[in-house]
Amino acid sequence: MSSYKNLNKNLSIEEVYTCPVCYHGQISAITLMDAFSCNFCNHIFTADMVRQSLTIVDSSFPLSWRWNGKKWKADHPQAEWSWVIQLLAVAFILLPTTLIGLSAYFFPPIPGTTLCWLPIFWTGLTFLSHLAIIVNIVIDYYQFPVKLYFKALVKHLWFRISPQNSSI
Ligand SMILES: [Zn+2]
Repeated sequence: MSSYKNLNKNLSIEEVYTCPVCYHGQISAITLMDAFSCNFCNHIFTADMVRQSLTIVDSSFPLSWRWNGKKWKADHPQAEWSWVIQLLAVAFILLPTTLIGLSAYFFPPIPGTTLCWLPIFWTGLTFLSHLAIIVNIVIDYYQFPVKLYFKALVKHLWFRISPQNSSI
């Protein structure tokens, strides 16, 4: 926990930092190497002490972060979602949903027929499937450890609900 006293200092191999990928675990140096590993998501990073930066090595994307003395700043311009990409993502979710929703609104099914629920269901399904595609792309891009994160979250909540189980 010595890291939190030294948050304003330069990046150092002797310190412990919050993981720039999962923001949950802590990264510390691997013995005899200029590399860090996370105790939560298990990602491995190489450190560049001159540039004060970390680069992930076990990911298909060469993501890197620069230490500004307080926190990690993304050092990969393409990784920041520009407003154009955000707009495209929102359009990708909303346009098909709106089209299907409008067709269901202008050509409503005859009430009481067997499949009269289908247009509403189809609109919802369109929204959810397009949303899932975007969420999947974001998770994939940032290599966010969803499973590990939820596992830790459940564990954390469970201990909070029943503190007597914290010894397990
Ligand atoms: Zn991590």
